[in-house]
This record gives sequence, structure tokens and C-alpha cells, in this order.
Amino acid sequence: MNFSHSTYPVCPPKGRFAPSPSGRMHLGNALCALLAWLFARSQGGSIVLRTEDLDPQRCRLEYALQMEEDFRWLGLDWDEGGSLGGEATEYFQSRRSAFYENCLEILRQKVEIYPCFCTRAELHAAQAPHFSDGRFLYSGRCYHLTEEQREVLAKSRRPALRIHVPKEIISFQDGLLGPCLEDVSTECGDFILRRSDGVFAYQLACACDDGAMGVTQVVRGRDLLSSTPQQIYLLRLLGYPEPRYYHIPLLLSPDGIRLSKRDKALDLGELRRRYSPQELIGLLAFLCGLLPQPEPASPQELLSVFDPANIKREDIRLPVSLYSE
Ligand code: GLU
Repeated sequence: MNFSHSTYPVCPPKGRFAPSPSGRMHLGNALCALLAWLFARSQGGSIVLRTEDLDPQRCRLEYALQMEEDFRWLGLDWDEGGSLGGEATEYFQSRRSAFYENCLEILRQKVEIYPCFCTRAELHAAQAPHFSDGRFLYSGRCYHLTEEQREVLAKSRRPALRIHVPKEIISFQDGLLGPCLEDVSTECGDFILRRSDGVFAYQLACACDDGAMGVTQVVRGRDLLSSTPQQIYLLRLLGYPEPRYYHIPLLLSPDGIRLSKRDKALDLGELRRRYSPQELIGLLAFLCGLLPQPEPASPQELLSVFDPANIKREDIRLPVSLYSE
């Protein structure tokens, strides 16, 4: 199998924190930030903080500022972005629309991008195959519309924009999960670059920003593994090198449900009342397999024991005791 498309780490790497400020950070977000920090710092790398606040309905500046404060409290520092600013000037995605417009134009010159008028209800009614993670394959219905039909529909509805994907296998070497590959046309299909309300899609913003910000190392939850082929596809079209990806296990509640920001029991507000920063870092390091016991430690102290081989590969079910302590 040929994985030659993946670009292997330039040393030292540039990692990133890419939080969505849609609520207070939870234990899973903290684990992701800790591992992103350890991967970058253990190789002498730098870190950029990019605030993924594209969705105006869900994201708030106060949550973004609180996240920065929570990172600092945990002892996780970064080199550019957030309120530090830096070379990219703007690190809040909500303020980078002009840049995403430019990227769209570049993409338009290389591939077909077309308006999609399907409503959510229509998308769900279409008998396209659904995947276990809730995604489904777009039927391609609006791809086949004629120019005249598009004009008529555009009078009553603002369309989303979709990119037409070719039959192409995207392969990459995940730093934790090993070789991964996906046929984008049958496992992903034509995907959205801009929503009908004008908000740029996560896939577009994330790929464009990773490229433009020179990110070479992406550490994030396994729930985003299925986004990676789409992002690699966009990065290649835009002429950016591909980062090295590390998809980490997710933290699950004792009954097996993924933590969410709505789950207040394990958000940083609550955890900061119960633990010191070192206790919490030690607990995270224990949960993901880096420490044999949950002993207090600072991120800096963990650098000496950090070995990616010890990071658990399976999702991590939290003990009930964490909720009741
Ligand atoms: N903003 C996403 C989140 O907070 C992470 C996206 C990414 O790491 O690519 O879940």
C-alpha cells in the first residue's frame, strides 16, 4: 500500500489547540489539549491557539476567554494565537471569513463547487446510506441541477455550497492508529464548504487554517478521524503540506456516552473546585495511560515520561467515582 502522500513531521513540529468556545471546557477537551501540548513540546515544537468559533449561535467570546484561562490554570502554554496574537493576525475563525472566501475561489478554479438547495428534511428523507457516526452520503441531487433550475431555486432559497469529490482514495498514516484510508466519493461524498446561512463549514476553515498557519501536527479526538480525508483532500487542492495526525481516544461517561459540554459534572468549573492543576493533569495522564497511578504532575514533569506508545488506543470509560467524589 502506498502512503507516500502523507507528509512526515518536519522538526520541530507546530501543533495546535483548536477549541470551539461553545461552553466550558470538559475533561475530554483538557485531555486533548494536554496531549497536543505533550506531542509538540516533547519534540521542541510550538503551539498555536486557534479559536474555532464559526457558529455564531453556539460560540461566545466569554467562553473563548475562559478557555484561555483554563489552559493557563492547567499549565498549558502556547506561542501564538488567542489573545497573544501573532503572525496570522487573526486567530478567531469568526473573523477570518475574507481568507476563507479567497480559499473558496482557489478551490473553484480546480474543482466543481456547486450550490445545494436541499433542506435538512430533504437530506434526511433521501435514502442515502447512513454511517454509524450519523454522517450520511449526499445523494448528489443538486449536483445534477441545470443552470436554469439553479436560478429558479435561488429565488426562494439561499443555497449551501458543496464541493464535488472525485473517486479518489485518500490515505494517511495516523501517528497513533496507523494506516488509514478512505474513498472520499463513497465514504464521504460531496461535502459542504459553506452553509446556507453563510457560515463556513468546519472542514474548509480547519483545512485552510491548518495550512495557512503552518500547522504540522494535529492531535485531536477520534470523533474527528472521519474528517481527516476531507481535510487532506482540501489541503492538497490548496497546495499546503499535510500535517501529521494523531487521533486520541475519547473519554466516555460510565454508561459509555461521549462527554459533551452540556455535561456540567466534569467541566473545568466543577473540576477546578475539586482538584489542583497538578492533580487534574496527573489524573488525565493516568486515564490515558501515561502514568501507572493518578499522581499529581505538571505538564512539564510529564515530558520526561511521555511516550506515545503508552497512550491508550481504545476510548476510555470514566469510573463512576469521578462523578461522585
Ligand atoms: N474545534 C474542534 C473541537 O473543539 C476541534 C477541531 C480539530 O481539532 O480539528 O472539537
